[in-house]
Amino acid sequence: MAQPSPPASPAAPPASPSPARAASRYRAYRLPAFVLAALLLAAVGIATVVGLRGFAESAQWVEHSYQVIAEIESTLAATRTVESSARGYRLTDRPALHAEYLASIPAALSHSAQLIALTRDNPQQHRLARDVERRMRLRLAEIDRLMELYARDPQQSLISGRTSTGTEQMRALTAVADAMRENERALLAARDLRTDRNAALLTALVVGGLLLALSLLALLMLSLWQENKRSRALERESRQALAELEASAAERQRLTERHRSLSHYAGLLQSCQTLEEAMDMTAHVIADLIPELGGRCYILRASQNLAETAARFGREAILSADLLQPNDCWALRRGQVHRSQAHDGGVRCAHLERADPQRAAAGDDDPRWSLCVPLMAQNTSLGLLCLSGERAAREADLALVQAIAEQLSLAIVNLQLRETLRVQSLRDPLTGLFNRRYLEENLQRELLRCQRRRLPLSVLMLDVDHFKRFNDTHGHAAGDALLARIGQLLQELVRNEDIACRYGGEEFTLVLPEADAEAASQRAERIRAAIAATTIVHLRQTFGPATCSIGVATSSGERDTPQQLLQIADAALYRAKAEGRDRVVGGDRAAGAVE
Ligand code: GH3
Ligand code: MG
Ligand code: MG
Repeated sequence: MAQPSPPASPAAPPASPSPARAASRYRAYRLPAFVLAALLLAAVGIATVVGLRGFAESAQWVEHSYQVIAEIESTLAATRTVESSARGYRLTDRPALHAEYLASIPAALSHSAQLIALTRDNPQQHRLARDVERRMRLRLAEIDRLMELYARDPQQSLISGRTSTGTEQMRALTAVADAMRENERALLAARDLRTDRNAALLTALVVGGLLLALSLLALLMLSLWQENKRSRALERESRQALAELEASAAERQRLTERHRSLSHYAGLLQSCQTLEEAMDMTAHVIADLIPELGGRCYILRASQNLAETAARFGREAILSADLLQPNDCWALRRGQVHRSQAHDGGVRCAHLERADPQRAAAGDDDPRWSLCVPLMAQNTSLGLLCLSGERAAREADLALVQAIAEQLSLAIVNLQLRETLRVQSLRDPLTGLFNRRYLEENLQRELLRCQRRRLPLSVLMLDVDHFKRFNDTHGHAAGDALLARIGQLLQELVRNEDIACRYGGEEFTLVLPEADAEAASQRAERIRAAIAATTIVHLRQTFGPATCSIGVATSSGERDTPQQLLQIADAALYRAKAEGRDRVVGGDRAAGAVE
């Protein structure tokens, strides 16, 4: 069957973008989003590395500043140590203080050299460091001069010490050192500020970048999840579609097979010789194609007053009567298919078994059903197909049963027509006796059969006397009525195995197998007498009786042919006419041969 295709509607409003198109658009954005997320993560990583390096560098600079400040303090401290140990020695003359003085000079020089080295990167601080060193050296030179003076003249040294410029030198040195320290602290503060700012920037960058990248990744995950969901739904749909396709292919296969079986059945029906054969085959085909159904085929008698079961198939779920009157079946009454359920008391055909009252009272929903399909042709009922099933029927099965019923109806009509033609071709319509063709075909066979068994066979040739006159006197219709009555009499007066036929016109032939000449003459005499005693009533008028002449020929084992026998009987009949009619004359073989 053709699948219904979606209607093309050019006038339909523009459809909103389908989910599939939206999905493909999202798919197109997925790669750039992924690349962007990866780039963002890489940028965050680079920023983190750069930031960490910056932090390490800043930490180095902070440490550097602290070193500078420490060296400033150390230089000042060492200078003060030189100064105090020198003054102590000059005042106390203790050698230990002299040793300390000598030891602290290199320390002071070393610290100032270190300070110069540390400030090489900063010209301003470098200049100040050199100034510190210069002033420290001036101070050391002054102390050294006082120590030399002490060595020569201690008293003078003390006086000179009190009046020397040592205090101013020291104050100037301290002032330069303080300036340098302040500078370094300012540098430290600026570095701290920059570090804080970098840290805030880095934090914002990392957090922002991570959030953005994570959002993109979340979107990607969402898109992938939706894609996955969609593809699973698609897979489910395609699996379902495949199952439906397989089911429809199986159904198509089943229908094709049924179609083939139905064609085969129709072909076989054409070859059926009798109604019974057609019915048997129908029952067989239904049982084969729809084994779950049971039922029977009925043939309606020619009188149309009774339908009788001709064939049965399967197991009937609802029993149907063997014989039924057309009024018992709704399908036969209406000439239409009638379907009913087991519990439909009112509309169920009378030929079906009654519903179980206990089940009906219990409200039990009995699923059994029945179907009556009338066999009809040219508005004439021919019979009935009655089926029943235990479970709900499939529409395809019911359609098949109807198709079978149609084929069967045609076959019945054909068979009946064939039978009518066959009878018409063998029987004479006026008298109901066999016709001449039948006689010729069967006389040969009967003769051979009797000759083989060495049995006699007689042929009677009968001709109504003066029939022309009868016709002329009473009319052709009365003549016909007489012929019909004679036909009836002959039928009654011969045995079943005898052949009574109308040879033509008002001549009749009787074939009496196994009857010898005497028996045949007696039978002929009885027939003659019966005809001579019969009157007919036609159009309320009585006619007759008429007489007849009969010639008898008997074959008694000789090799006679049908033609010879008929000629002998005809010759005897001729003689009976010649001898005065209304008589029986036995056949004379020699006379028949001469004739
Ligand atoms: P005979 O005693 O010599 O046999 O005389 P007959 O008049 O019977 O013989 P004939 O052969 O001269 O006439 C036969 C008549 O039978 C002639 C024909 O009109 C008549 N006939 C033949 N067939 C039919 C028929 O089917 N119906 C009727 N009514 N008459 C028939
Ligand atoms: Mg005649
Ligand atoms: Mg006649």
